[in-house]
Amino acid sequence: MPEALIARPDRDFIRRVKAAGGESVQKCYQCATCSVVCDLSPVDCPFPRKEMIWTQWGMGDKLMTDPDVWLCHQCNDCSVNCPRNAKPSEVLAAIRTVAFGHFAFPGFMGRLLANPWGLIPLLLLPIILIGAVIWQETGGNLAPLFHASVVDFNLFIPHGVSDMMFIIGNIIIFTFAAVGLFRFWRGMHNSWGVQPKRGFISALISIVLEILRHNRFGKCTAGRYRQTAHLLVLFGFIGAAIATAGALVEMIVLHEFLGLEGHYPPFPLYHPIKIFGNLGGFAILVGLAIMIVQRLTNREKVGVVGYSNWLFIWMVGLVTLSGLLCQFMRIAVVPEAAYPLYFLHLVTVFFLLWYAPYSQFGHMFYRTLAMIFARSVGREARELKNNNY
Ligand code: SF4
Ligand code: SF4
Repeated sequence: MPEALIARPDRDFIRRVKAAGGESVQKCYQCATCSVVCDLSPVDCPFPRKEMIWTQWGMGDKLMTDPDVWLCHQCNDCSVNCPRNAKPSEVLAAIRTVAFGHFAFPGFMGRLLANPWGLIPLLLLPIILIGAVIWQETGGNLAPLFHASVVDFNLFIPHGVSDMMFIIGNIIIFTFAAVGLFRFWRGMHNSWGVQPKRGFISALISIVLEILRHNRFGKCTAGRYRQTAHLLVLFGFIGAAIATAGALVEMIVLHEFLGLEGHYPPFPLYHPIKIFGNLGGFAILVGLAIMIVQRLTNREKVGVVGYSNWLFIWMVGLVTLSGLLCQFMRIAVVPEAAYPLYFLHLVTVFFLLWYAPYSQFGHMFYRTLAMIFARSVGREARELKNNNY
């Protein structure tokens, strides 16, 4: 006689998913329309129907290590077609939020980033730290900077100090992030119990190439705009990252170590570093504008977007806008605007990078890892199965 299966629902997990935006999960009556319309779902054990019932049953442990939760790209096709308006797209997003907090290390950082009240201490930290450096540098007297004939950010906060703060902070924070990612990776392996058919590096390379093309977003019907918007933001970030790395190399390697002549910050607008940075910045702003307009005007198709998502959008927007504007104010020699904008830029950059593993940024790491796992075990979307990845 087969052994009886006793379900022990984790009621706290259900409550957390509902609180994170998945309250519609109880409406699901398991018709499976969602799994049929989802182009990203594999043929075997498709999602998101099974995730809906696992959530209803409170099977939190199973969902925490379920790669399918992260293979969903929140295109909303399933929610648009759901006959019960159970919004599986939003339920999966809520499960991701809970999973993210579950793996965050240290755990309180995940909770702070997910709670609007957490914004106060999270913003105070960079404001106080950067403010203290500026105070030390200027002696608390900004008047000479405001009355000078040029705007020199290096006198406000030395580039070397700000660079060191971000580098050291990121090394610490990404070490913490690696702990959460490792636990997630091990959890996927243990719960699926499938031997990989493909090596990690090979799967990683093919997934990175796929992400650069964003072809999974291209499968969306309801949220078709997402591919364009995400690509603009992604390549904007790549442009900005190249510019930042280029500036560091030019500043530290060429000038400090090799003693070579050349441009030292501030770089002229025609300098390749500036061109990369500014083009990247404008691409990010256009991508964000598309996202914001779609989310505000097309809720039926886009679905409801949670706090973490909005926080990420506004922070990326503030970083980009303040970076572009403080540059223009510096060139136009308007110190009263340039220095405060530069301060805002540093605070928001700090916020975005140091808290990256706990914000929507961190979702990208978890999604990428889930995609690598899926590829390594041969779990492919119906639509991608016949492509030669
Ligand atoms: S979420 Fe909607 S479409 Fe999916 S199984 Fe439930 S009722 Fe059906
Ligand atoms: S939101 Fe899109 S990708 Fe996610 S489960 Fe629904 S149809 Fe699939």
